[in-house]
Amino acid sequence: MYNSKSMNAESFISHEEILDTLEYANKNKNNLNLINTILEKASKEKGLTHREAAVLLTCEDKEIINKLYLLAEKIKINYYGKRIVIFAPLYLSNYCVNKCVYCPYHIQNKHITRKKLTQEEIVREVTALQDMGHKRLALEAGEDPVNNPISYILECINTIYNIKHKNGAIRRVNVNIAATTTENYEKLKRAGIGTYILFQETYYKDSYEKLHPAGPKHNYAYHTEAMDRAMAGGIDDVGLGVLFGLERYAYDFVGLLMHAEHLEAVHGVGPHTISVPRIKRADDIDPSAFDNGIDDDTFAKICALIRISVPYTGMIISTRESQAVRRRVLRLGISQVSGASRTSVGGYYQPESEEENTSQFDVSDNRTLDEVVNWLMRLGYIPSFCTACYREGRTGDRFMSLCKSGQIQNCCHPNALMTLKEYLEDYASPDTQKIGKMIIQNEIKNIPNEKVRAIAEAHLNDMEHGKRDFRF
Ligand code: SF4
Ligand code: SF4
Repeated sequence: MYNSKSMNAESFISHEEILDTLEYANKNKNNLNLINTILEKASKEKGLTHREAAVLLTCEDKEIINKLYLLAEKIKINYYGKRIVIFAPLYLSNYCVNKCVYCPYHIQNKHITRKKLTQEEIVREVTALQDMGHKRLALEAGEDPVNNPISYILECINTIYNIKHKNGAIRRVNVNIAATTTENYEKLKRAGIGTYILFQETYYKDSYEKLHPAGPKHNYAYHTEAMDRAMAGGIDDVGLGVLFGLERYAYDFVGLLMHAEHLEAVHGVGPHTISVPRIKRADDIDPSAFDNGIDDDTFAKICALIRISVPYTGMIISTRESQAVRRRVLRLGISQVSGASRTSVGGYYQPESEEENTSQFDVSDNRTLDEVVNWLMRLGYIPSFCTACYREGRTGDRFMSLCKSGQIQNCCHPNALMTLKEYLEDYASPDTQKIGKMIIQNEIKNIPNEKVRAIAEAHLNDMEHGKRDFRF
């Protein structure tokens, strides 16, 4: 029985409710009266229910799809402005006891080199990341209680926060590790993590169990209820995502929105972020073996619809996607991108050799961070290395209320300009510096509050004299 407030995975992600929703959407995909009513509601920028969003997803009318895109663009600008937050993944270990059939780290893959970073290697990795200009990381590790216990993850977080090299610093560590216990989430919270990210992969239980034939991840309920345990452990910023291509996309799209509704209904706080990975080629993995792959148009529509349905959520795209796809979906709702990512263990300090294969997937966007920053600015965005919110205690419902009222931009915009300035001073190429200076000069005028503008101007000036790390 469907109940968004239930704490039982099969009730808040009810299979019957998803099937009913898809049937309802299919019946109404040409019902222009209903579709226009839903669009009218969406234009209020307060979100849509999973049923309403499913109708729009199923509709194939080109004019309606164009309206969707325009609305997604507008909502994105109204909530998040022009800033695009930049981060990098850091792979700690590819030891894993699970058997996920779409991931090269699965336990049966014998050609992959298994590797786990020592604390000394982490210092080298993070120093290399700092030297590029990164300030925000997403930690990745396989699930392995012997090789990657929670104590190892905590030690790594502590090491990372304490590495200071020149003007570099990692100021926010987000963590993407396997579902765990409330006690372990409490430990992660105490270690000062930003967002806890866990991809559901697919919400369809039958497929989920087949795709995860053995290992702790096989347990659908334990995995699906992980965010509730994370919240109980005090982590109030959580990140959802599915791996598009594993299951029928419409099923997972509806499941994803139901999960967001569940978090809001139970905890009063929806997902801090939603990621939209698509399955990619990797060692031992051929994406064509999965017959639910989605084309770029469908992918763009999904991104736009997530933005419309959950307007407050941050949306993340990685370097799994090409430059062209990233460019397209940035307009439609993406608010965070990774840059210059290495998906191998230890790959920032030393790119992996032919013989040593430790990557989780092939990267499609291979540009340097400076190239990504430069590109974003040429597209009219403000690249941001901001990490202010959780450091200022703006997490969970505090963050959400600022975001939903549109006020978060009063922080995002000046913080984007100040962190961009830091990047320009310390890491940028001459061309990037030139464009960045122009952008800062123009955009500083767009800070509406006079007092905030004056403080930001003073901080920008201080940065030219060596000071760092200002934030609102
Ligand atoms: S997806 Fe995660 S849990 Fe599954 S094999 Fe890969 S690293 Fe392990
Ligand atoms: S102010 Fe908060 S929401 Fe805005 S970019 Fe910074 S950390 Fe993110």
